[in-house]
Amino acid sequence: AKAAGKNTFCFFESEMAQRLRDRHRLEYDLRCAVERNELVLNYQPIVDSRTRQTLGFEALVRWEHPLHGRVQPDHFIPLAEQTGAICGIGAWVLREACRNAASWGDHLTVAVNVSVDQFRHGTIMTDVEDALASSGLAADRLELEITESLFIDDPEAVVTVLHRLRSLGVRIALDDFGTGYSSLSYLRKFPFDKLKIDRSFVNAIKDDRIAHGILETILALGRVLDLSVTAEGVEDAEQIDILTRMTCNQFQGYYFSRPMEAADLGAYLLRDFCA
Ligand code: C2E
Ligand code: CA
Ligand code: CA
Ligand code: CA
Repeated sequence: AKAAGKNTFCFFESEMAQRLRDRHRLEYDLRCAVERNELVLNYQPIVDSRTRQTLGFEALVRWEHPLHGRVQPDHFIPLAEQTGAICGIGAWVLREACRNAASWGDHLTVAVNVSVDQFRHGTIMTDVEDALASSGLAADRLELEITESLFIDDPEAVVTVLHRLRSLGVRIALDDFGTGYSSLSYLRKFPFDKLKIDRSFVNAIKDDRIAHGILETILALGRVLDLSVTAEGVEDAEQIDILTRMTCNQFQGYYFSRPMEAADLGAYLLRDFCA
């Protein structure tokens, strides 16, 4: 029994060592992912709630790992944030998203997720300017999605940068609204154009009275503050009915489309146009 126990211990130890090695390997690979051209952007449509026409797309990054295949952002973005690789990745995402969007119709916008670290390292302003300049994309077609975690550090510095970004003509959306350290006072202090309601609320809308109430309140707030509101993670017609009655402005979710490869957007838009 004693020997077996010892073996088990060794087994665990080597498994843990293995996992640590895998993680270090992945961190290393991630630092090279941009140069090796392993990142790709997928795009998910954002739809007008009244006309059902596509207003633009959110860019969602994917990592095509040569060994492990496709790695989802929920897995590697946190890793990139811990290792500092996120700044290089974030700059690439901005450049690539603007480059793609410049080839779409002039009325279509592109939304890009921005990490807190791009603000912390002070790179966001030049990244955005470079992406706009190199693509020729009009600034008012770019929307930056930021999260409430941004306001933990240094709210004054963040406010200054957000104002500078907006003076370029770029729009700012507050992503995952309702999940973070939501303090409604942020809405007074920070210059936003849009709120994106997290999909956990949309998910619960049918059978959770509280989620329903929160959604109604967020939409009323959006009206008063003159912010457009996008509901994320819309998956069925019943959710759409309820949200439309609440006068939600925009929808995004599998009901309309899953994220697509850039190359498939033309066919999607053609279908959308003919519908
Ligand atoms: P997010 O910004 O909240 O993006 C929405 C996520 O919800 C996406 O997952 C999207 O595929 C998924 N989604 C959309 N519609 C539905 C639906 O109807 N049902 C369900 N169940 N899910 C839906 P994805 O692509 O895996 O991205 C996850 C997160 O990774 C994003 O959450 C965002 O926080 C982060 N992320 C993605 N791309 C980037 C990037 O370029 N930079 C940074 N910093 N973060 C990124
Ligand atoms: Ca987002
Ligand atoms: Ca979101
Ligand atoms: Ca999210």
